[in-house]
This record gives sequence, structure tokens and C-alpha cells, in this order.
Amino acid sequence: MSVRVTQAYRFALDSTPAQQRDLLRHAGAARVALHWALARVKVVMDQRAAERSYGVTADQLTPAMSWTLPALRREWNQAKREVAPWWAQCSKEAYNTGLDALARGLGNWADSRKGRRAGRAVGFPRFRSKRRTTPSVRFTTGSIRVESDRKHVRLPRLGMIKLHESAGKLARRLEGGSARILSATVRRDGSRWFVAFTCEVQRAERSPVRPHGVVGVDVGVRHLAVLSTGELVANPRHLATATRRLRRLARAMSRKVGPDKRTGQRPSNRWQRARRGLSAAHRRVADLRRDGLHKITSRLAGDYGTVVVEDLHVAGMLRNRRLAKAISDCGFGEIRRQLAYKTSWSGGRLVVADRFYPSSKTCSGCGAVKPKLPLSARTYVCQHCGRSLDRDLNAAINLAQLVVAGSDPETVNGRGANRKTRPGGLVAVKRQPRTATAGKTGSVPPQGGTVDQELTHAH
Ligand SMILES: [Zn+2]
Repeated sequence: MSVRVTQAYRFALDSTPAQQRDLLRHAGAARVALHWALARVKVVMDQRAAERSYGVTADQLTPAMSWTLPALRREWNQAKREVAPWWAQCSKEAYNTGLDALARGLGNWADSRKGRRAGRAVGFPRFRSKRRTTPSVRFTTGSIRVESDRKHVRLPRLGMIKLHESAGKLARRLEGGSARILSATVRRDGSRWFVAFTCEVQRAERSPVRPHGVVGVDVGVRHLAVLSTGELVANPRHLATATRRLRRLARAMSRKVGPDKRTGQRPSNRWQRARRGLSAAHRRVADLRRDGLHKITSRLAGDYGTVVVEDLHVAGMLRNRRLAKAISDCGFGEIRRQLAYKTSWSGGRLVVADRFYPSSKTCSGCGAVKPKLPLSARTYVCQHCGRSLDRDLNAAINLAQLVVAGSDPETVNGRGANRKTRPGGLVAVKRQPRTATAGKTGSVPPQGGTVDQELTHAH
């Protein structure tokens, strides 16, 4: 038995300077196509708005422009000889990259306006600054290959590019017929180029080590995560060092002569060098964080049949400036995203507790709920039963007990929030697993014991 999933494989490239120029040219071509089409769309929209204000009837209006990718491509192909006489220098996939981004942006904007899209309002697509956008280009057709030496990739028009690392993992799947490349995206991250293959992969169906095991995960600021088993997962070791380095490099850069729009000052070579150093340090922090997150989520998904997390309103919390740095540092949203796909690959499930479930304010021993709990209170002390334990551990145990209590909330994949866990009802049933014997409530998983152990230990 196997499951078919869409999976990405990302490899660093060792591209030559000539190849890098070629890649930049393709990324620039994508921007040109996007800007041309966006300008066209705006002109037609403004024209129609003006005509309407003059009282032109609907059938007399300038015809609306179709925003679908095929329509935009048709328009581009008719205009490209005039707009970009050099168009033949780049793969058609470059222009397609830009037009696809625009088609999706316009679609999201329209959906958002008509209320067909969840989340915050999506703005109208904007022109992109040459300096600020990450250069990238996506290939969906043509010869996209990993060479048999596993050290090179072949892309349309760009030809053979050396890889910085072995692509053995993907190559073995491709040779064995359990993976198929759907597209390849090349993008620059800092000063290095990467290729990401989006693949359709047949993965062997697996089951977690403890299929009935339940673990609650509280994602925190002080620790990467606190598990209901009492385990504290520390932040990656070198993260603090890297952060200190980051501060030092930023300070060094601020002392050098940077660009100034008002005076027309061009950045000095030393400033440019300092900036490269800073961006490398930023990338290192991001790499360390990603590595730590992948390790913990892989372990959780591989070990436990059910992983329970909180539905944190990450976007909302990031708007709080004071918390933003600490939160984005731990990758709250990223942990959830990784757990969602990893549990589905490992045959487990991810349960997301309702956003309003008071996991921190509830006592994991007696179920009493505190009306208030300041963020500064690191220890949870219950006024009812006198229980005292670490705040994050208390929250993690509460999360695990959501499932242990037998109120089987729905499995959640991806973005859908589970609405079945209601704080009121759950607080009432939560005491049951402790009073009932494990044999009686057949649904209590072995972890019930672990949780109890932790409880007695904490007292
Ligand atoms: Zn209590």
C-alpha cells in the first residue's frame, strides 16, 4: 500500500557566473511579462471605469480582459515582439512564471473581494521592485532532469547546472519509478541559487511507532516545544550565537556608507561586502531554525499516532510588534504546517485544538479554569487543588487530554480549523481519565499512564 503525495526536493546549486547571469535574465524576463500584463489589466479597468462614469451602456464598454493564465499568455505572445524584442533569449517558461504569478494574484484579489476567500483581504497585484524581489523562475515543461551522476540537473534553455549536494534521494525515487517531477523552481536565496523540484511521490504507507500514543505539544518562546510527556525541546544550540553575530554584523554595516536616495549616494564596496555577510548570517539563523523544527516534527509524527497542537493565531500575533520577533523565531506556523503533512505521511493524525480553548488557563489536574493568567507567570498554580507545575507543561498536558478524554475531535489536515472542541464541555469531561481505570475506558491510550506519572511527579 502506498499514498500519493506532492513533495518538494530542494538542492543548492553550484552555478557558474555565466549561469547566474542567465538565471537572473530569466527572472528579469518574468518580471517584464508580469509588469506588462499588469499595466494592460489596469489600463482596461480604468478605461471601463471611465466609460461607465460617462454613462456608456454595458454592451458598449471596452471588453473586459480575461485574467486566466491561458488568456494572458495569448496576449503576451501577440505583443512580445514589440514589448520585448529580445524575448527569444529566454525560455518561454520565464514569461509564464510572471504571467502565472499575476493570474493567481488577480484571482486571489477577486476571490477576496467577493468573499470567496478566507483570511485577510488580499490587495490588488503590485509592480515589483527589481532590487527587492527574490529572483526566481519556474519550469513546468521541457527537459527537466536529474542527471544519472546525481550531481547535475538539466533545465530547459539553461542546460546542465552543477549541484552543491547530491540529489541521490530524489534520483533513487525517479529511477525506481516512485516519483515524477512536476516542475522545477530556481530561486536565489541570499547569494546562493537553489533548485526545488515539485514531485508527485508514491510513499510507502507507514504507521507510527505508537499508533495509540497521544502527545500534546505546546509551542513556546523559551523552548522550541514542551511535550505533554514532560520533555522540554530546547531551541537549536547555535541559534543564540548566530543571533549575536547577526547583531554585530548589522552594527558593522550601519557604520559604512550605504545608499541614500535623497543625496544619490551609491553604496560603498565595504557596505556591499558587509551586507553580504549579514545576509549570510541571516540565512544561517533560518537554516538552524528549520533544521531544529524538522527534527522535532519528524520525531513527533514518527512516534505518536496523535499529535495535538494549539491553533495559534500566528498572523494576528505577528502584528503585535513586541511578540513578533520571538514568535517568528520559533516558527509557530511552521511547526503546525510540518506536523500536518508529516502526520499524514506517517499514518498518524494531527488534532488542532480550538483557538479559544484555554489550554494555558486550565488546570491539568482538576480542570478548574483561571479567568486570567499573565504571560509573566511561568508557573501554573491552581487555587482549587494546589497543583503547581510549569506553565507550558500544564498547557501541553491539557492538549493531550483533549484526545485522551475521549472527545474525539476531527482530524485536521492543513488549514481547516477544528470547531468541535469546545472549552466548556471539555473541561467537564477532562477529569474522567484520571478517575476511571485504564481498562474500563477502552479508549485511554498507553500515554494516559505517562501523563499520570507526570502529574504525580509535578506535585
Ligand atoms: Zn487544579
